[in-house]
Amino acid sequence: MNHRSEEFMKMVERTTILLKDRLDIPEGYTVFYTSSATECWEIIAQSLVVKESVHVFNGSFGEKWYDYTRKLKPDAKARPFDCQSELNPDDLDFSGAELICVTQNETSNGTQLSHDIMGALRRKNPKVLIAADATSSMAGIALDFSQADCWFASVQKCFGLPAGLAVMVCSPAAIARMGSIAERQHYNSMTVLKEMMDKWQTPCTPNVLAIYLLMRVLKKSKSIDRVSEKLEVRSAAWARFFGGSKRLSLLISNPAVRSGTVIAVKADEALVTKVKADARRHGFLLGEGYGALKKETFRIANFPALKRKEVQKLMRFLIPYL
Ligand SMILES: *Cc1c(COP(=O)(O)O)cnc(C)c1O
Repeated sequence: MNHRSEEFMKMVERTTILLKDRLDIPEGYTVFYTSSATECWEIIAQSLVVKESVHVFNGSFGEKWYDYTRKLKPDAKARPFDCQSELNPDDLDFSGAELICVTQNETSNGTQLSHDIMGALRRKNPKVLIAADATSSMAGIALDFSQADCWFASVQKCFGLPAGLAVMVCSPAAIARMGSIAERQHYNSMTVLKEMMDKWQTPCTPNVLAIYLLMRVLKKSKSIDRVSEKLEVRSAAWARFFGGSKRLSLLISNPAVRSGTVIAVKADEALVTKVKADARRHGFLLGEGYGALKKETFRIANFPALKRKEVQKLMRFLIPYL
């Protein structure tokens, strides 16, 4: 499909309408199609910040976002916090910040910022824009999009699609900031993306097939509240499963900060190596531990595309290692 054609524009419009409907995205928000979450990190640094963004993170993905941003905007600030404890927005001073960057679901360690914390962050900082990386939670859990101004996710996690596409969802306040900065130095400047999206197009040739597949998957998917309920039941089952184990335990001991879509499991290094190798022989591909946690953890996806039978099979496989 030619990406300047009438058919393409209709498809992008249809995909956007479906995305907003299924994920409960406010009508006034703008959806952009990019190639990856990493690209979204750069677009945000280029187009929504003049000087200073503040990055609040407890794991590798949030830190990487900060590192990429720092290369473009050297005044970016880091506010790391402990992955076992709940973030308290009262403790954080954002004066001088133009943008707060949070990782709503930190895939590297299996933590998330709850609905309540995201809400408190918003209430305490009504004048500051908030960007939220929801790469491994969007389309899996019910997000309240009004709690931030710029959400993004690539589609290879909870959307259950092949890699090579990401969606970025922006509030009217984010679009206003974009307009006042009016940055257009890059092919993927948000200003340029917006001008093209006003015609249901993108500046460069996008991953047309992936947008089509996204449309087809959204058409078949249930509302996010139902998807979310299913995943909650499953993550509770995983917590019970590892709760009774002597050798494998959940990396995150505080249930209040645990992710609903990524289950990080901790064990001694030898056992992690053995479980991963045995799993592979049985046809399961467990997520590697990430970054500093590589050797003593592995991760299990609690993504919507996984079927009940597949999850049960994985549980049966893991029983001897508990
Ligand atoms: C996977 C992931 C990314 C990177 O996504 P890409 O599509 O590889 O750019 C960024 N942030 C989080 C939280 C992720 O889980």
